[in-house]
Amino acid sequence: MNEAQYDVIIVGAGFGGIGSAIALKRLGFENIVILDREDDLGGTWHVNRYPGLAVDVPSPTFSFWFEPNPNWSKLYAPGPELKRYAVDVADKYDVRRHMRFNTTVNGARWDEDSSTWQVAVDGGETLTTRFLICATGFLSQPAKPDIPGLDSFAGHIVYTSRWDDDYDFASKRAAMIGTGSTAVQVIPELAKEVGDLTVYQRTPMWVMPKLDLPIPAPVRGLFAKVPATQRAVRWVTDVTQEMLMLIAMWKYRRFRSLNENAKKLAALFRFLQVRDRGVRQALTPTYDYGCKRPTVSNQYYRAFGQDNVHLETAGIDHIEPDGIVTRDGRKTTIDVLLLATGYDVWEGNLPAIEVIGRDGRNLGKWWRDTAFQAYEGVSIPYFPNFLNSAGPYSWVGLSWFTTVECQMRHIARLFGELQRRDATTFEVTEAANTRFFDDMTTRIADSVFALGNCATSRSYWFNSKGETPLFRPTSVNEAVTAQDSFPLDDYVFDRT
Ligand code: NAP
Repeated sequence: MNEAQYDVIIVGAGFGGIGSAIALKRLGFENIVILDREDDLGGTWHVNRYPGLAVDVPSPTFSFWFEPNPNWSKLYAPGPELKRYAVDVADKYDVRRHMRFNTTVNGARWDEDSSTWQVAVDGGETLTTRFLICATGFLSQPAKPDIPGLDSFAGHIVYTSRWDDDYDFASKRAAMIGTGSTAVQVIPELAKEVGDLTVYQRTPMWVMPKLDLPIPAPVRGLFAKVPATQRAVRWVTDVTQEMLMLIAMWKYRRFRSLNENAKKLAALFRFLQVRDRGVRQALTPTYDYGCKRPTVSNQYYRAFGQDNVHLETAGIDHIEPDGIVTRDGRKTTIDVLLLATGYDVWEGNLPAIEVIGRDGRNLGKWWRDTAFQAYEGVSIPYFPNFLNSAGPYSWVGLSWFTTVECQMRHIARLFGELQRRDATTFEVTEAANTRFFDDMTTRIADSVFALGNCATSRSYWFNSKGETPLFRPTSVNEAVTAQDSFPLDDYVFDRT
């Protein structure tokens, strides 16, 4: 076997990459490099810095279990605090020194003779590694909407995922395309600044009230001094999030009525926040709760009550150099166009780079030719020594940290066994992969995705075949237990 440059290459310096590195370092791996195309760590929380950016999952839950942060200023922490947290965790666990920034990975190929991954990076360099972990998340490739005339727009264009700090929005005529989780956070902030804002909505969102509580300094002090107090708060936020996922979404067959109640609560909230009946109607989703990512905000609906904010639902026909024309022929003249049009989840992230495994198997092509599948959400047959951390059926619960920590557990068990056997390669068996895939697809049959009315949701959780293979449709507890106890014989370990 040729000597590889690295024991492990991790692609992505977000929380997924940081978590994977921590898990490996706990096992004694030090020859690790984490590659990221950005100029600093934090992934989505480094890149996104639009006004209003905050987590929409309570912060005690939206953090590593092993690294509680007593410093969150609010129950739903603002985005910059997440970036700070990423930096602090990376520094505390000595992960930053493994990071190499401004490095775009183009693809990776398994070399059977040397049992190494050959990883191609921008500029023609090829790095070699024994193990490869793709920790690129689901939401890293912004989608450019295919709206006729977009490129002809002569005013200023701002992607929310690439916020332009230098642009002065004051008194401008602005248009926002998109009403997903990002837009729900940006719109109320933008509405305070611009002269006029037209929001182009294609599909309304389920928006719930937000328990947006500040965490005063004495409480933060208590969390720092007596961590059990913050654990207690986390217990409440964990259980609430879990109920939302488990009952409203995964156990829809049995708990349909609870899902209906969630819709009633959202309707009451809309009624209280939006006085104009027509606008309220236009903001009402026609699909079931949970088909698409629901969100929380106390300001979003209210923004549509402001004189300078207009909701446009006629559909965009095309864009002209100075404005947007709707399907019914009306034109709105604008200075600045904001795109909160989401991410290219399927083509851009599954997988995020070209990965060629054993016998020349191309991961992206194989997934498309067969079905999106990955054992325990991370391993794929014919891809030895490779884990894909944002793969099919990997997303556990509403907090991304639950997913990352499940994978850290998988890494601990898998690499621990590799070391125990003094092996150099691992590969999941086809039988184990099929068993897991069958279990996931059986469970999804009970979910809102399969039984609910999702036809009008246009949810990115569905792929072009109408399948929903992003989430692991189990409770968090089940997922954690599975990662701690999966049969080790589900892998073939070898020594090259
Ligand atoms: P998104 O949910 O995919 O929303 C994209 C929006 O753009 C949708 O309203 C979509 O309409 C619209 N759109 C796309 N192409 C369009 C076109 N050609 N014409 C008209 N409208 C178009 O993206 P996002 O808001 O960025 O959120 C993505 C995910 O990021 C969320 O689901 C969430 O997981 C995450 N996020 C998390 C937080 C947090 O606090 N943790 C905050 C923000 C985002 P349709 O719905 O009709 O397609």
